[in-house]
Amino acid sequence: MKCPFCHQPNTFVKDSRDTEEGKTVRRRRYCEFCKGRFTTFERIQLRELLVVKRTGAKKPFNRHKIEQSITTALRKRNISNDQIIALADRIVLELESSNLREIPTRKIGEIIMNELAKIDQVAYIRFASVYKDFSSARDFAMFISKIKQKTP
Ligand SMILES: [Zn+2]
Repeated sequence: MKCPFCHQPNTFVKDSRDTEEGKTVRRRRYCEFCKGRFTTFERIQLRELLVVKRTGAKKPFNRHKIEQSITTALRKRNISNDQIIALADRIVLELESSNLREIPTRKIGEIIMNELAKIDQVAYIRFASVYKDFSSARDFAMFISKIKQKTP
């Protein structure tokens, strides 16, 4: 792997460690040339996925976007970065283990909503308001009354 500091192509792995029940590997790397140190994370990717937008345009799936949208939804909700990463892992695993190779953004939004609903109601409502494109207080009120009906 290329050194991020001096960009020379050879760096050394100093040690490797499994994290998150073996789903990711953390490697500490070292560049002999500039003495720079950095860490990489290796994740299992089961399949290459394509995302199909509402317009029909297709794009390679980007895990970072999932992390971003759940981070935004969970802002100031007292959820640690590790919990966000674990949540993104669950969402990605669910997508990768579905039988679809092309996944509509709508489907991804629904999975994120369901996962958020399990951990934080406020984040769930926040995400839903963007995802479902709420435009008025009435949209919020209707959505919240639906949640109340579902939760005893
Ligand atoms: Zn270097």
